[in-house]
Amino acid sequence: MRLEADFIITGTLIILLLVPLYIYRKKVFKFLYRKGDFKSFFNDVKNYLNSEYPNIPFDYTLNSRIKEEKDIKIKQTLLVEDLVSQFTEYEYTIQTQNSINKELLWSTYDQNCKPLKDKLPSDWPKRKEFTFKRDKEQCKRCGHKVKLYDAYISFIKPISEGGGYNFENLITLCVDCNKIINKTSSKNSLIEEHLMKKVTHH
Ligand SMILES: [Zn+2]
Repeated sequence: MRLEADFIITGTLIILLLVPLYIYRKKVFKFLYRKGDFKSFFNDVKNYLNSEYPNIPFDYTLNSRIKEEKDIKIKQTLLVEDLVSQFTEYEYTIQTQNSINKELLWSTYDQNCKPLKDKLPSDWPKRKEFTFKRDKEQCKRCGHKVKLYDAYISFIKPISEGGGYNFENLITLCVDCNKIINKTSSKNSLIEEHLMKKVTHH
């Protein structure tokens, strides 16, 4: 299902998101890889993916191209490419999310749920935080743990199609899944970047 990207990357959100994301990319995955053969690389990648993206059912069966390749770096790169494409192609049907008890919500909540044409409601940061907590600080598509400043809040029913800012219509996504679901163009995905680092750091 196509979601509206324009509304997610709007206003103050863009500043909140971009700066820490840059630091995050540089810092968090700066771990080096121990030297090893293809098998240990394979197991490391597998463990990494299973812990970082628990919702994606990766198929680790090696295709014939990977099997036949003799050069270890090319072999690793082919594996990374295969896994990244599996991550990208994983089909996820977005479902309406459970809502938060209305009694706990603020007085203007209902009023600000109505779709707005070109701006986010004034209580958007609050909505974002609530959605993020309800989704247990994880991307709903891949299960990746995200920080509030890295989280993208997407719409199940796009605003342009009459979807609102109510919690049932909001969903937490990581940067990669946001790109995939909202089909925003960009450079390498984070997952690709992290896995390629594993290859180049050998
Ligand atoms: Zn994700």
